[in-house]
Amino acid sequence: MIYTCYDMIRDCRANRAEGWAYFISNYVPVTRTILTHYFQPDAAGRVMERILLALRQPESSLFASVEPVPERPFVAELRQHVLALAERFEPAAAPEITVDLETLATALEPLSVVEKQAAWLETMRYAPGQSGTLLRMAPVTVEKIRERAAELIRHKTDAWRRTLLWDNGLQLGRAAAASSGSQCLPAKIFLDVLDGRSTWRGREDMEHHVRGCWHCIDRFCRLVEVVELLRANRPLTGGEAEPLRKLFGVATEKRPAWKRLFGQA
Ligand SMILES: [Zn+2]
Repeated sequence: MIYTCYDMIRDCRANRAEGWAYFISNYVPVTRTILTHYFQPDAAGRVMERILLALRQPESSLFASVEPVPERPFVAELRQHVLALAERFEPAAAPEITVDLETLATALEPLSVVEKQAAWLETMRYAPGQSGTLLRMAPVTVEKIRERAAELIRHKTDAWRRTLLWDNGLQLGRAAAASSGSQCLPAKIFLDVLDGRSTWRGREDMEHHVRGCWHCIDRFCRLVEVVELLRANRPLTGGEAEPLRKLFGVATEKRPAWKRLFGQA
């Protein structure tokens, strides 16, 4: 029988060692990649352990809120929790020049869905080359879209600088995540698109809604990010996982069956 993400979520909620061991091997590397992407290496190093310990609590908002789901929606949720915890433990300085989601939405209204995605990935701190990989687009195309997006935003704001989206990324991401409406699409629809499984009709409906919805633009971009995170992910070896098992208080030695049966650590 294959142990899946569903089993892991169920086991972590019940505080079973099997779940935590699986989480450590497979998703600690993902957590580390997320942190080093969004924060400076020293800040990422400082908060890593605290974040893992916060996630380790079975009543942590990650495991309490997430129903057993497949891997990709789980990692999308994990990313949100990791960024929120990092912000709580080490709040970033507010950007010198701010831009809110409403201003950005108004300014970028003329862009197509794909163009909005290319622009939004800049708030997620992806350079044109990386964004091109994520969206299967030439980096030079991403750059052109971003230049146009920058011009559009500059016309709608009093103060502007080239790194505005990058600087305001965390705030904009939070605002987009919080702005869901009743028409917003479930992750599965976006994953079907990414897997090439959506029908053209479905795709048209999706594009119609997504074009005007930054919550869904953000969601799609985060799922694209997750696909890449998981593609590049390398589970920890037993030796690498060992110190983390200690940190998590998950015994490595095989416990007698009767102890497992009664759920004793
Ligand atoms: Zn939406």
